[in-house]
This record gives sequence, structure tokens and C-alpha cells, in this order.
Amino acid sequence: MELRDKVIVITGAGRGLGAATALRLAAQGCNIALVDLDDESLADVAAKCEQAGAPKAATYRVNVSSENDVEQLFADVAGEFGALHGLINNAGITRDALTLKVKDGEITSKMSLAEWQLVIDVNLTGVFLCGREAAAKMIELGCEGVIVNISSVSRHGNMGQVNYSATKAGVQAMAVVWAKEFARYGIRAASIAPGFIGTEMVMAMKPEAREKLTAHIPLRRMGEPDHIASTVQFILENDYVSGRCFGVDGALRL
Ligand code: NAP
Repeated sequence: MELRDKVIVITGAGRGLGAATALRLAAQGCNIALVDLDDESLADVAAKCEQAGAPKAATYRVNVSSENDVEQLFADVAGEFGALHGLINNAGITRDALTLKVKDGEITSKMSLAEWQLVIDVNLTGVFLCGREAAAKMIELGCEGVIVNISSVSRHGNMGQVNYSATKAGVQAMAVVWAKEFARYGIRAASIAPGFIGTEMVMAMKPEAREKLTAHIPLRRMGEPDHIASTVQFILENDYVSGRCFGVDGALRL
């Protein structure tokens, strides 16, 4: 896909990997529809996208786990831009805890249903709703397009992340299903599984804590947000990529 003047929706775009992806695609001349929960960070990223070269950057305060919000979002994007060529399903959260904590044979705590459900709602249901509505709009508008789901190295199963790992395996599988179901409409789908990426939050950690994290990475360093953004660009541009998951993790295996 040639990126200039295309319309791309990015969820969780107020900071981190979503914002980095927005800026890279803006610099390629894409129109950007930025989705997040926080108006202030959305406005800030939108201004930077237009400075970077986006013909237009619009913002949408939307909770991706709400069916009504997501249906309205894609109706609004279609109304604003008249086209839709890409969705980067990036919004995601963690609520880490061991499934069970046991001391001296006694169960001392359990991951709560609320901790499980919140992560499922945002990371799994949110990706499903946005992917479903994006594909529906692409078909209605007669646009060929691409859906990219952001998975994680944790998709293989990471201790303390039973909820998050389940969602990240799920979004990888969803991209495979959509690659098969939507190919006939000219829609491709793929996923990216980042390892540890030095977003603002991670870089704010104490150096000792960061060193501990990087010690397990064969490349001995964290990735940068643009390593993920450039992989998104590659998937969008390469018309024969579909159904696969791209690990961008410095060879890390958890
Ligand atoms: P981040 O800095 O926490 O950014 C996530 C963004 O998503 C935030 O702006 C957040 O908004 C937004 N968001 C959260 N819940 C939402 C909802 N219900 N509806 C709409 N927006 C919502 O995360 P990140 O590190 O950039 O990660 C982005 C994606 O990459 C996530 O899916 C994450 O699981 C995945 N990932 C990241 C890494 C890494 O090392 N950074 C590694 C593997 C995978 P608020 O700030 O307003 O809450």
C-alpha cells in the first residue's frame, strides 16, 4: 500500500508505541485518526502529527472496550475522512499478579476476576470490536486496507501475566483469522509482538531496574518505540504480508 494520503486509525495513540507509530505514519503523509482516553495527550500528538507531515490528524476520546463507542468512532472517522485504509490495534493495559499466591501451603491471594476481566475487556474485546468495525467500514467504503494487532512477547506465557498473556495470544490468533476471512475484500491483517521497548514509562525506571530487565535480552538492550513503528510501516506497505506475527524483541524469550 502506498501510504501518502491514506487514512489510518491508531488506538492508544496518546503516548508510547501508539504515539510513535502515529508520528512515523504522519511523516509518510498519512491522515491519522488518533484514539485514546485522554484529551490532552491526544491534542498534543495530533499537533505533532500535523507538524510531521500528516495532511490531517483528528482525535477521538474513545474507550475501545465499549461497543457503542467503537461503532460511533468508525462512523465518525468515515464521516470526517470519507475513507479508511488502516487500523493499528495498539491500546493495551496490564494488571499483573500471580494467579495464586501460596504461603506454607495456604492460599494467601488470588488474581481477582476484576483484574482478569479488565485486561480481557481492553486488550481482547477492544481489539475485536475495533477490528470488526474497521473491516466493516473498509468494505462499506470500498477501501482496501490493513489491520495490525499489537501482541507481545508475553503471548507465549509470562509468569504473573495470565490475563495479559491470554489476550496477547488471542490478538495474534485474531489477526490470522481476519487475514483469512477478509482477504476476499482486499483487507490484510497481521500482528507485531514487541519485547521490552523503552517507552517513556520504562525509561523513567531506575537504571538498576532497567539493567535487570535487559540482562535477559540476547541483544542486551531494549527496543525503541520506532522499532515497532517501522514494523507497522513495513506491514502496511508490503502487499504480500498477511496473517503472520512479527516478533520485535531482540531475541528475547520469556
Ligand atoms: P502505554 O504507554 O501504556 O500506552 C497505552 C495507551 O493506550 C495509553 O495512552 C492509554 O491511555 C491507552 N488506553 C488504555 N486503555 C484504553 C482504552 N480502554 N481505550 C482507549 N485507549 C486506551 O503502552 P505502550 O507501552 O505504548 O504499549 C502499547 C501496546 O504495545 C500495548 O498493547 C502493549 O500491551 C503493547 N506492548 C508494549 C510493550 C512495551 O515494552 N512497551 C511490549 C509488548 C507489548 P491512558 O494513558 O489515557 O490510560
